[in-house]
Amino acid sequence: MSTIPQFTSSDKAQRFVQAIDKGRYDRQITAGLGKFVDNTVEAAMQGFYTEDELAALVDIQGTDRDIEQRMPVKITRHYFEQAKNSSALQQLIKASPAETYDLAGSQDPGKQMDYSPVEGLLHKYEIGLIYVASTCSAHCRFCYREELIARKDVARPDGAMAPKGLAKVEEVCGYILEHNRAVEANGGRHPESGKEKLREVLMSGGDPMVLSNKIIGNWWASLAEAGIENIRLGTKELAFFPDRFDDAFFDMLDKFHESYPRTSIRFVVHFNHPDEFLKKDAGGNFITNPGGGLEWLDNTIRSVQRLASRYWVNIDNQSPIIKGINDDSDALRILQRELKRNRIENSRFYCGRDIVGHRAFNVPIEDAWRILNESQKGLSGIESHAKLSITHYKGKTEVCAVTNAPMDVRHGENGVVIFKLYRGAGDAKLRGKVAIVGRNPGAVWFNDYEDRVIFDEAGLFPKSKDDAKPGFY
Ligand code: SF4
Repeated sequence: MSTIPQFTSSDKAQRFVQAIDKGRYDRQITAGLGKFVDNTVEAAMQGFYTEDELAALVDIQGTDRDIEQRMPVKITRHYFEQAKNSSALQQLIKASPAETYDLAGSQDPGKQMDYSPVEGLLHKYEIGLIYVASTCSAHCRFCYREELIARKDVARPDGAMAPKGLAKVEEVCGYILEHNRAVEANGGRHPESGKEKLREVLMSGGDPMVLSNKIIGNWWASLAEAGIENIRLGTKELAFFPDRFDDAFFDMLDKFHESYPRTSIRFVVHFNHPDEFLKKDAGGNFITNPGGGLEWLDNTIRSVQRLASRYWVNIDNQSPIIKGINDDSDALRILQRELKRNRIENSRFYCGRDIVGHRAFNVPIEDAWRILNESQKGLSGIESHAKLSITHYKGKTEVCAVTNAPMDVRHGENGVVIFKLYRGAGDAKLRGKVAIVGRNPGAVWFNDYEDRVIFDEAGLFPKSKDDAKPGFY
């Protein structure tokens, strides 16, 4: 790529940012296991970890199985209130020695560093992803960004080891300007990479909503001025701290829309389980609303309704299916029905990635497919749009089907699993390519199918030496 020009925002952007109230947010966070171990957490939170649980965690402190070396402990008061009556949410937020029993896995499972033209930016085929924050209001134990949040070294393409850096506005927007200039000058494709115009950027981390309104607004205005048409923001703040969506935030959101009316904002929210947003009665049951649906937490539904009332804002939910948290088709059915009722689209469910320690969290691929499929029985067509995805380093892949009946081909005696690439990480032409493998009920990652590949036009598996026909093994 030619030299990246320096990006400078316009007077209009600077006026917009100056007018933003940066906001003050008291999340009442407890960070670190220490306060639970010393019992210096506030009285209401004492006993959240049992003495036995804490003893087991203290036992491995300072060893290569140290829990907080893998992922620091962090919880908001709001999430604690929901988790204290939910075993699913406790599994999500409480550290456990089981996380480090098997540390097999990758620090960079998507080979992300291969797609990073400037620090903190990944540019895969049609979308840019920027790391703008290295923490969240609370920490999910299964997080696949644990290397960023725990500030671990990752391998760069040149072999150097260093923690992932965060994106800088000037560098990222300079890159976008230069990329889009080269694409336009070359008739719609970049002359070196073949990529199209960069239209969409996903702000990620960590959680961008831990940043001040001013910093978020500065990113939005700069991205809009660099030519980005759709800004996505990935956040779990509706679950961890829904009061973050307050008057100051909506004031910024509306001023942004007045200044940049052609730029859409897409929130990709992250609810894993209905216990994160629904009220329960004294018996632990969800409360039916006489007008229809179930009763949501007041501050969560208020934030959702304020977001959803703006026509230029989209809200989509994405969630992995994780062992002990939401590998439960009844919970997922309620989740999908309630989200859709309240203008949150069910976008995707994911199989866990092969991060370090993934075997503690990942549900076998075939189980995840069955759980999601069961959850969608009884949902209407528009409630059940979500597909099951698994992210191969070649691109996002759908687990399309798992069959039960034997198939009369080599490796097909117990049925087959069909994968389809949604999109290639580097090339849109790969979309729609399929791979078919013989079933392996314990498989949690692609390598568990390597010895039973039947057909692979997608290139998801290493080539066998004896493949006779293109695609066939
Ligand atoms: S909200 Fe997302 S990025 Fe943050 S800890 Fe949870 S999974 Fe990781």
